[in-house]
Amino acid sequence: MRCLVLSDIHSNLEALQAVFQDAGSVDQVWCLGDVVGYGPNPNECVELLREHDHLCIAGNHDWATLGKLDLRDFNPDAREANLWNRTQLTGDNLAYLEELPETIIEGEFTLVHGSPRHPIWEYIIYPSTAEINFQYFDTPYCLIGHTHTPGLFQLDNRHDNSRADAVAPRWSAPVELASKRLILNPGSVGQPRDGDPRASYAILDSEALTVEHRRVAYPVEETQARMMKADLPLRLVLRLGYGW
Ligand code: ZN
Repeated sequence: MRCLVLSDIHSNLEALQAVFQDAGSVDQVWCLGDVVGYGPNPNECVELLREHDHLCIAGNHDWATLGKLDLRDFNPDAREANLWNRTQLTGDNLAYLEELPETIIEGEFTLVHGSPRHPIWEYIIYPSTAEINFQYFDTPYCLIGHTHTPGLFQLDNRHDNSRADAVAPRWSAPVELASKRLILNPGSVGQPRDGDPRASYAILDSEALTVEHRRVAYPVEETQARMMKADLPLRLVLRLGYGW
């Protein structure tokens, strides 16, 4: 099965449309949470995702927008954008977000937003955090989002104590998942934070067991213009321009 793996869309419709177009035909979409928050088009993003055969789990911004997390735990810009997203969402789309599970296990893959240990909140940025988290899922592979940084961690158990190593993405080149256990992050569709403003995603072939990290440009200025019109925080508008 050819899967489009994406995460952290954050109400950015132009970025999501570019990803769907660039990915071409896929059998299923696997979304790793944070469909809404930050950006200007929460309804359109939820609805475009729902047009596809897909799996989706909840992210911290989805929960914050629903009021399931304390907004005081978010920085002022994120809080303001979440509150605005909440006012925009239709009852039907709020109900859809409300139903999203925290974890999905699909074949050889565990899908979570943050980490298998703490699906909603924990950030896996460092190999040391990844190393601990390998104990918290039973499948060979785990797919995560939340950090907005594409890449993967692989478990090297040739040593007495299993060690996790960080591996940078190889762009547009399928990588064999092979026999090592992996935690893989496709990066963020709607608000990349690795210094590249292009939307980030991955294509997974669950039979051939290959994964390919990909990047696609989208009209950032259009998203920024919509954000300005909605009076969303300027810092959130500007960061899309430099991918941070
Ligand atoms: Zn996010």
